Amino acid sequence: METAKQESDNPLSTIHEREGSTMADKKAKKRIQMVCSICGGTNVKADAYAEWDVENQMWTLAGDPFDKGSYCDDCDGETRIIEKKL
Ligand SMILES: [Zn+2]
Repeated sequence: METAKQESDNPLSTIHEREGSTMADKKAKKRIQMVCSICGGTNVKADAYAEWDVENQMWTLAGDPFDKGSYCDDCDGETRIIEKKL
C-alpha cells in the first residue's frame, strides 16, 4: 500500500492525514466495482505488471492494469473489465 509507505517515511504527513480523514470522508468517496463487460460478473482478474517491493517483501502493482488481457472466471475466458458505480 502506498499510503502505509508514506506514513512511515514522513511522520508529519501521518498526523495531517489522521486529522483530515473522518468517517464522513470515507462515506463520501465514490465506490466502484469492476465487472465483466460480457456477463456482468465480479469474478474478474486484470492483467498487469508487478514490481518487487524489497522493503515490504511483496509484489506490488506497477501502475494500472492493462486494457487488454482481462479474465473472467464466470465466462471462463478473456473479457473486458468495466467500472460499475456502487
Ligand atoms: Zn464474464
